[in-house]
Amino acid sequence: MISQELLDILVCPVCKGDLKYEKEPERLICAACQLAYPVKEDIPIMLVDEAEKLEGPPDHKSGA
Ligand SMILES: [Zn+2]
Repeated sequence: MISQELLDILVCPVCKGDLKYEKEPERLICAACQLAYPVKEDIPIMLVDEAEKLEGPPDHKSGA
């Protein structure tokens, strides 16, 4: 469980926007970017490379 204090200071590294905490599965969502940042052992992984894209065309791949 991530503390509310930590959640308050965390922002999306892409847009600097607020994040939404989800418990199941545990992750932090940026609605603006449609990215889900994973949480590992109560540590939010605030890396775009680690984030999961929530929506988008499946035919678009970057960095392949
Ligand atoms: Zn964002």
